[in-house]
Amino acid sequence: MTPSTDWILSAPADHPEEACGVFGVYAPGEDVARLTYFALQALQHRGQESAGIAVGDGETVTATKNLGLVSQAFREHDLSTLTGEVAIGHTRYSTTGSSTSWENAQPHLSAIGHQVIALAHNGNLVNTVELRDELRGTNGVRFRSTTDSEVMATLVGHFTEKHGSIRAGIRDTMELIRGAYSVVLSTEDAVYAFRDPYGIRPLVIGEIDGVGWALASETCALDIIGATYLRDVAPGEMIKISAEGLQAEQAVPAENPSLCMFEFIYFARPDSVMNDCTLYEARRQMGGALAGEAPVEADLVIGVPDSGVPAAVGFAQASGVPFGEGLVKNRYVGRTFISPTQTLRQQGIRLKLNPLPHAIRGKRLVVVDDSIVRGNTTRKLVQLLRDAGAAEVHMRITSPPIVWPCFFGIDTDTQEQLIASSKSVEEVREFIGADSLAYLSLDAMVDATGTKREDFCLACFNGVYPIEIPETVKRGKLSLEVGETS
Ligand code: SF4
Repeated sequence: MTPSTDWILSAPADHPEEACGVFGVYAPGEDVARLTYFALQALQHRGQESAGIAVGDGETVTATKNLGLVSQAFREHDLSTLTGEVAIGHTRYSTTGSSTSWENAQPHLSAIGHQVIALAHNGNLVNTVELRDELRGTNGVRFRSTTDSEVMATLVGHFTEKHGSIRAGIRDTMELIRGAYSVVLSTEDAVYAFRDPYGIRPLVIGEIDGVGWALASETCALDIIGATYLRDVAPGEMIKISAEGLQAEQAVPAENPSLCMFEFIYFARPDSVMNDCTLYEARRQMGGALAGEAPVEADLVIGVPDSGVPAAVGFAQASGVPFGEGLVKNRYVGRTFISPTQTLRQQGIRLKLNPLPHAIRGKRLVVVDDSIVRGNTTRKLVQLLRDAGAAEVHMRITSPPIVWPCFFGIDTDTQEQLIASSKSVEEVREFIGADSLAYLSLDAMVDATGTKREDFCLACFNGVYPIEIPETVKRGKLSLEVGETS
């Protein structure tokens, strides 16, 4: 994908790209494939390129996966033939490996002797290349895909054969892999979950009353199947759910927790809860703080759907400027159907957002959005609002400038492509064509979450990465020296 078309195909505004959503369920006697299907619908926002479900039926594991949205990836026939006691599922946005390859869709199936396992992963390893080379060289392992998920599945298989136990296999794998990972794994009769020692990507456990347990990237996936949130999978923890119940162990020592700040700003659904805070409320508070830090004379506050809307409500409440709807999101535009060669792409941002001219015409607008990555989409958005008759457009962003790239499963591109890495706030304002532009401060953003600053990864704002990034990986994305900037 080229930078010139990426903004059309990606999220409605200038956001980083989501990583993936994972789900697992142990519920004998229930339709586990269908529970997984609904949970994946709730996790659709985390990945729209492919979706997959794997089911364990007591004897083996079978999977179905396809490119596209959850509603496109499965037919009724797929769900009714996937019967069993345990299941895992995945929605994917590719951060490693080709996005158009079916092989790269997850869950990833692999064999350990006569046993089949399925693995699904959210995050990104920073030592995949080293591990792949080592496995190819010393063990002659042949890889079918280009994902780090396959590397993980291969390692789990290798160590499981060595120790005769999947738990020991996962433990040894966790000691070798470095990076962000929230993983669910299914065998024929058990579901496992494990999370990196920093807890960069979220992973929660829920109970389905009297029926079983579920694991999910976000609590909204528990809500949709009637499961009750129990707790987070702790950093470095491994969970096994089987006929013996739920067993937990600290597989590797936990490091300083470093949950991705972007979960609060943008990735997670507003009805999900993280660290005891509803994302809607955190975003509303961010908007309120922004009104205090960067007030402006205006007639109407609008939010860029979806994550900008709660923040716009907060901005309006704190500033006294009325809140209104000004943009409607076309929700179901699947990435797979937008070809870079189609004339439809001329429509650009209208594929994702449509303005409401009667609400906007002649108004001085405050437009609240969560982030600016490259600036191209925000520029189109400002123009779209001006074309719809806005008298003034004041952009208010509920995060600080993104200056550093992500290595943990979020596609923020190389540092050169991040507009704030080379332009001042005034230069960015000029580029996007807004009447004014202001970003929320780092402190106010963190305060809005109710979580301590040191418990977050804030690397895309301050360049302080919780995990050391190998030089070979850094070189691909960094153009400046890494160091704290704020
Ligand atoms: S670098 Fe940014 S996007 Fe990546 S994990 Fe850290 S906070 Fe999240």
